[in-house]
Amino acid sequence: MPSNPLYYDLTPQIVRADSETAVRIHPLFEHVAFKSDAVYEVTYYPCEEFSLRSGWPEKNKMALRAENGVLTVPWYFEGEQEHVLRVEEAQGERRKPVQDFRVYSLHDDLYSRYPYKGDMHMHSFRSDGQESPGYVAGACRRIGLDFMALTDHGQFAPSLESQKAFEGIDLDLRIYPGEEVHPPQNPVHMINFGGSFSVNDLFRDKESYYAAVKAIEEKLPALPPGASPYQYASCVFCFEKIREGGGLGIFCHPYWFTDNRYHISGALTSAIFERRPFDAYELIGGYHRFEAESNTLQVARYHEERSQGREMPVVGVSDAHGCDRGDLFGWYYTIVFSPSSGLPDLAESVKGFYSVAVEAMPGEMPRAYGPFRFVKYALFLMRELFPRHDDLCYEEGRWMLRHLSGDPRAADMLTRLRGRTEAWLKDRWGR
Ligand SMILES: [Zn+2]
Ligand SMILES: [Zn+2]
Repeated sequence: MPSNPLYYDLTPQIVRADSETAVRIHPLFEHVAFKSDAVYEVTYYPCEEFSLRSGWPEKNKMALRAENGVLTVPWYFEGEQEHVLRVEEAQGERRKPVQDFRVYSLHDDLYSRYPYKGDMHMHSFRSDGQESPGYVAGACRRIGLDFMALTDHGQFAPSLESQKAFEGIDLDLRIYPGEEVHPPQNPVHMINFGGSFSVNDLFRDKESYYAAVKAIEEKLPALPPGASPYQYASCVFCFEKIREGGGLGIFCHPYWFTDNRYHISGALTSAIFERRPFDAYELIGGYHRFEAESNTLQVARYHEERSQGREMPVVGVSDAHGCDRGDLFGWYYTIVFSPSSGLPDLAESVKGFYSVAVEAMPGEMPRAYGPFRFVKYALFLMRELFPRHDDLCYEEGRWMLRHLSGDPRAADMLTRLRGRTEAWLKDRWGR
């Protein structure tokens, strides 16, 4: 019985592992209402089959009645895992299926965090994208993102423009500064996500930039043959500057195939993975369908590095150059498990490995990549929670775009919608 997360409210749906919680199943529409005179049989399944303290599998059924239209299921949710509550209406010996409801129990470190969806790598018409910086932000909310940064090529200013477009407007979408950093004579692309100043601007004063890189180069241990010491030192310079501004430094698309080769040499890529001057790896990059090999390689490389003991934080990004072109935008994003959607929390959570990269191609089941524990949880969230979350965001995103097109009602509508999505999310935790 597939569950339809849009028909019911389940509170809480995310519960603390190894404790008893009463889960309230509240139908939102008349066509799924519980009958006041019926008995409902709930069968419990732990998805990973360890649930010794709850008495499972011997004890796995309960007969319940709805009170004020709500069915309350008390259960001891053991371990960190997904749980199925199968609800059927008891009609004598017959059972009429209602629906399966899914609950996830989490250990405290993850239970204290919320999932935030975001895209940290996108372009506007200030570089080679299609739309204005503000439009890109509105379009991000429309597809259910909680945070975003515009990262035009070599430019920081457009990201500030995306913030300014909504100055004085009540918004829940977090719009952060950003830029794609392109140092001279260095093919490596880097993202400055959230930094307080432009790293690209530092290249204008060529003399001092080259002097600073030279100083880094002189202190470097020897690199493998084929890796340019200047290029590596230039990356170190950029990532250090990004961190200086409080930003997250992302190592972009190493397996982008362009001009008949990968755009960075294998030796330089290996040096970067080995020494990890970056904060996060663009595990899933913004590739078109015909470029899918590049993401396959980036994922394979990630597993290879981890098997050698080199753990690394990951992000997924769309690198979209247009929001309405039917490609890239919304296909790839990051889920960060973080205490809040504020920048320091997001950056620290990514650096602490609390994130997954998502690939959500139209018409396909979404996939998540990253540490196993978070991938498993992310699959649950994408199936059970995000459809409602995205639905709430859609309305806000539309009003954001209407505001940009001059609709005088938009500011007031956005004020009314303020806090609604976050409150809904916290409700899933029963808070
Ligand atoms: Zn790039
Ligand atoms: Zn880009």
